[in-house]
Amino acid sequence: MTDPCSFHTLKFNKILDFTHPTASEFVNEVSRPRENQDSRENLLDLTPEAAETRLRAFFEASGQPAYRARQVVRHLWMVPVGGFDDMTDLPKQLRESLAEQFVIPRLTIAARQRSTDGTEKFLFRLADGEAIETVAIPEGNRMTLCISSQAGCALQCAFCATGAMGFTRNLDVHEIAGQVREMRLLDPPIKVTNIVFMGMGEPLMNWTAVSGALTLLNHPNALGIGARHITISTVGVLPGIVALSERPEQFRLAISIHAPSDDLRRELMPINIKYPLADVIAAAAKFDRRVTFEYVMLGGVNDQEVHALQLAKLAKDCRAFVNLIPLHPGGARGFTPTPAETMARFARELRDQGVEVAIRKSRGMDIAAACGQLRVERLGRRPPRPPQQHGDIQVA
Ligand code: SAH
Repeated sequence: MTDPCSFHTLKFNKILDFTHPTASEFVNEVSRPRENQDSRENLLDLTPEAAETRLRAFFEASGQPAYRARQVVRHLWMVPVGGFDDMTDLPKQLRESLAEQFVIPRLTIAARQRSTDGTEKFLFRLADGEAIETVAIPEGNRMTLCISSQAGCALQCAFCATGAMGFTRNLDVHEIAGQVREMRLLDPPIKVTNIVFMGMGEPLMNWTAVSGALTLLNHPNALGIGARHITISTVGVLPGIVALSERPEQFRLAISIHAPSDDLRRELMPINIKYPLADVIAAAAKFDRRVTFEYVMLGGVNDQEVHALQLAKLAKDCRAFVNLIPLHPGGARGFTPTPAETMARFARELRDQGVEVAIRKSRGMDIAAACGQLRVERLGRRPPRPPQQHGDIQVA
């Protein structure tokens, strides 16, 4: 941490020279499937229905009874196994022929750290060598899993370790939902009750895969987590908010506000140039479920009374609940956390304005548990990369 005001001199990357979006532009912001080197079919990128249909056809062709398909589907997500060979309720020869035709890819644990407060952080290695983070946060009866939706992130929020590493690629459906699957495969398993998309990446800039993963997370024949227990956190990608609201399930929406005026927000979050506050608040007001504002408190930057009053107005305009988040200092160069007393005062000022507010406990301080911090610690910082050429993300 050096000069707390150094954010004023931030230079924004050229790719973040945003203009206003149109609905058709959004089509370019979603993922295209990457080329699969392995010609076998990936069963974990399919819905349970699609997997069952495919497996039925496969078993039928080899003269096997149809119920075998349901047996395999059960082992994809509900009672997952590490590989076909572990499907011991199937004859060995069938397991071998399944493995010739299909894959059920794993994510490899490259690092696992446990905080004194029980929070656990995982660094997963993906098939192409990329690394992503997942954090398991126990609280009372709940076990919340904070999952990643992209390797890296293009948004470059000034206080975020992931932003500093740049964007590499979107995750596929099975890599997103697979983070939960891997928890079930641990010995002993971690039983996840809640999901927050607050790991690496911007989920609404990878909507196709995130939407597929939401289906698997929620599906009774997959991970079976209630939609109200699944929160998508976004900087305010407007077309993505519309797409999320069009899903019939009651998934929750959190919006990272972090600054209550366009001037300040543009400095902290360059995405505000493309999606200004007024539009984000209007989208939140239209969302048919109550939204949460995320507000990371940055000492001397966004924690003054004037900010509380501005934030209260925004929250009231869309009936939002406000979560005040202590800054996790690792990776947030140039910022200091707001002192606890100032946070309490800020919360009081919001409450006095009639806004519901909570101060979030900081978890996993000793294990670099904030967005992107473990990966930075393990792999070192690297200069942000330009976006890939195959249409993963087009924000220019
Ligand atoms: N792109 C999405 C989701 C990933 S970030 C979003 O921005 O909402 C998830 C949350 O972690 C965001 O609210 C983000 O602002 C917050 N965050 C990032 N860096 C942090 C830090 N150093 N300390 C505390 N919270 C941080």
